[in-house]
Amino acid sequence: MSHVDYRRDGAVAVITFTHPPVNSFSYAVRAELVAALDRAASEADVRAIVLTGGGALFSGGADIRELGTPAALRGPTLRDLIAQVESNDKPIVAAIKGTCLGGGFELALAAHYRVASADAKLGLPEVKLGLLPGAGGTQRLPRLVGVETALNMILSGEPVPAKALGKTPLIDRLAEGDPVPAAIDLAANARERRRTSTLTLKEPNLEALCEFARNGVKAKWPNLPAPLRCIDAIEAAGKPFEEGLAVERRLFVELINTSESKGLRHAFFAERAAGRVADVPESTPLRPIRKAAVIGGGTMGSGISICFLNAGIALSLLETDQAALDKGVARIAQVYEGQVKKGKLTKEEQGRRMALLTPVLAYDAIADADIVIEAVFESMDVKRSVFSNLDRVMKSGAILATNTSTLDVNAIAQGTKRPADVVGTHFFSPANVMRLLEIVRGSATARDVLATTLQLGKTLRKISVVSGVCDGFIGNRMLEPYSKQASYLLEEGASPQQVDAAMEAFGFAMGPFRVGDLAGNDIGWSVRKRRYAERPSYLFSKLPDKLCEMGRFGQKTGAGWYDYPDGPRKPQPSKVVEELITAHRREIGITPRRIDNAEIVDRLVYALVNEGAKILDEKIAARASDIDVVYLTGYGFPPPRGGPMFYADSQGLYTVRRRIREFGRNPHGDPAFWTPAPLIERLAESGGTFGGAEGGAS
Ligand code: NAD
Repeated sequence: MSHVDYRRDGAVAVITFTHPPVNSFSYAVRAELVAALDRAASEADVRAIVLTGGGALFSGGADIRELGTPAALRGPTLRDLIAQVESNDKPIVAAIKGTCLGGGFELALAAHYRVASADAKLGLPEVKLGLLPGAGGTQRLPRLVGVETALNMILSGEPVPAKALGKTPLIDRLAEGDPVPAAIDLAANARERRRTSTLTLKEPNLEALCEFARNGVKAKWPNLPAPLRCIDAIEAAGKPFEEGLAVERRLFVELINTSESKGLRHAFFAERAAGRVADVPESTPLRPIRKAAVIGGGTMGSGISICFLNAGIALSLLETDQAALDKGVARIAQVYEGQVKKGKLTKEEQGRRMALLTPVLAYDAIADADIVIEAVFESMDVKRSVFSNLDRVMKSGAILATNTSTLDVNAIAQGTKRPADVVGTHFFSPANVMRLLEIVRGSATARDVLATTLQLGKTLRKISVVSGVCDGFIGNRMLEPYSKQASYLLEEGASPQQVDAAMEAFGFAMGPFRVGDLAGNDIGWSVRKRRYAERPSYLFSKLPDKLCEMGRFGQKTGAGWYDYPDGPRKPQPSKVVEELITAHRREIGITPRRIDNAEIVDRLVYALVNEGAKILDEKIAARASDIDVVYLTGYGFPPPRGGPMFYADSQGLYTVRRRIREFGRNPHGDPAFWTPAPLIERLAESGGTFGGAEGGAS
């Protein structure tokens, strides 16, 4: 047996299953576990069994790669295994340490006793994949911890420390450290087999609690089927066990086929695939990162600094003068103050993190940093002068990174004597909050620099996606055609609130105009002004420029596409903007037409997809799922839709191309805009897809 270890401790059989990295229950593990249980049954002098996970944890759950495939149904299934545990003739004690999630937790719920280390984390995260716990979790958990706790755990999907559940019948004993010795002790003395399924749910208010939860869920996730089905399944725990189990099974099968679950599962795998680079194997040697430096303590520099301080890495922050430096340090301190006030950070931890920060004004003071990230003004001249300073002072082997959003990383690198050490680290604002990190690989970037930066991304708890060099990299390059179409829709007849509402109904947290008001409409304006100067033929609606000319930058100026009489959280449709749009339409000779929401969604999403296809074809992104990760983690694309490229695949690229061609018949704005990308043409022709997280386009 390669996954299961069977040993004896007196009259107790200790069965340990190991399947790195998270001890998931693949077919092989399940089969070996059943064999081990059979062996324990056949050894007459075995009185009881301890089941535990190898390594640092109990189990991360079912093998997600098997979900929805025939492998998940190959017997013994997880449900077969769990049934065998509960009906076993000899008492079984689950010894739980580390994480115990999903199917692993469901297995533990079916054991006759549970011993957990106090810091073990127990949870049922299935809802995050658009599913419900389908191996008895919705039936057994409420029987052990009550309906309210079960609802909370299953609907949030968040793990709970064993200590917090120590007073419920879920936990028989809490252990400090390794739970196995205590579990063996309990097993050696266990007389009865306590079967969770024989318990009756004692909850007089079952229906009311479930109704209450339903109302909450409908308000929070109006478009998601899984949370409601979770509640239905929990409510079925009021029925006899087998009946409830059948309801759970039926609902699980229903959910596994929903587009929402498929999208969420794709997003899960896409995140894991991101950051894998074909020619940078895991064995690539890394450069040590012990000390870091950030140049520029503005919006981004301060946020990036916080990421390093949070990770326990000593950091020097360099600014041009004392006043700017003080401001930068104050920005960082302010974020920590806020966290302390909210109880999210202790005073001591705040002190520890601030102590890692050294404010400096001279380049010589950062010379021995292992990595330096510049976040100075977005100007090639300013960046060039910063990099020439870095070239002069930084120790050999230091990584020189730029946080530029639009400038050519290759040009920045070529301005130094060490282009192989230069890489782009494009953080998103606020850098200490946003999970996405676009790592920009220049044509000369060394493999070990890329590997080290990818590793650094993990250390800073970011989701890293590697992008090649192009204007805007992956995310902002795609955002431009998206914004372009949003403005054209206004010219043609839609209102900002209609466009936003349509995109929000599709699932975006915010539509493009609310995002503009939040981020500052002046940011796009300054990029456009540069484009107009650089490329005289550059086309974009003049409407957003006119808005900015009126000083309506968004929330920060109290007015943008919306008015904000009741504060930044309450945008109101604006008469001024309506008049601006009407006058603009008159000026460009447009008679407004009625635009339906489907056109709004398709034009904006397919604008992303068409540009994404070009990015993929040009190998700026290694795989379509990387593009999805960028949009899911950096741009508010709705996770149940799986990202723009997955969404396009799910609609069918033939349909996508048809729609793009249809839009192409509307000559408004930019006549060449709706030319299907060559990759879409090819894939629509061959019946192919952009591909999942594993493979490329096919
Ligand atoms: P910012 O204006 O808030 O901050 C820039 C800081 O750099 C200022 O504090 C300034 O004093 C300092 N600075 C300027 N020249 C310097 C020099 N020669 N040496 C040291 N310090 C210098 O700008 P920001 O929004 O933080 O943007 C910084 C960089 O990050 C830009 O390249 C920008 O394109 C990029 N970026 C910004 C965002 C965003 O949303 N703001 C997102 C991603 C990337």
